[in-house]
Amino acid sequence: MKQLYIDFDGVILDTIPLLYEAADKAGVSRTDSNFYSNFDFKTILKEKYVLCDSLNCIQKLIDSNKFDVNILTHCNSIKEGADKVRFIRKHFKDITVIICPKEISKTKMVHTEGAILVDDYSGNLREWESEGGIPVRFSTKLNGKGFKVIDRLDSLIDMF
Ligand SMILES: [Mg+2]
Repeated sequence: MKQLYIDFDGVILDTIPLLYEAADKAGVSRTDSNFYSNFDFKTILKEKYVLCDSLNCIQKLIDSNKFDVNILTHCNSIKEGADKVRFIRKHFKDITVIICPKEISKTKMVHTEGAILVDDYSGNLREWESEGGIPVRFSTKLNGKGFKVIDRLDSLIDMF
């Protein structure tokens, strides 16, 4: 079984445009970490924002028995982490969720060697690759930016 880490924002849920929209509306910078620390993620953790059938695809990945499936998500606050865990646990009764403090690299939270990271952010993928991990970019436009790329999580089943 291969270790597999799946990003949340921009892979499972399409939260990024919603967060930017909220920041614009509040008149703050889209990179204002203080704004995101206080943002109520519960308002955007909804099934209607699921990207490319991701929840069903994760179930297929689990059922394939090829992967040890984990969710690895950056969080701005403990509350955001708790809300994300609740959302994920509503859909999967037995899955590992790792919440990573925003200022810490995902590579510092888990063993990277030989493990797959699916992420939409190439910065995370670059770090992952430099620590011996296998990076896969998630992009609805199939823009790999130099990495292997998928637009559906269940594509991993044929890739590995
Ligand atoms: Mg992301």
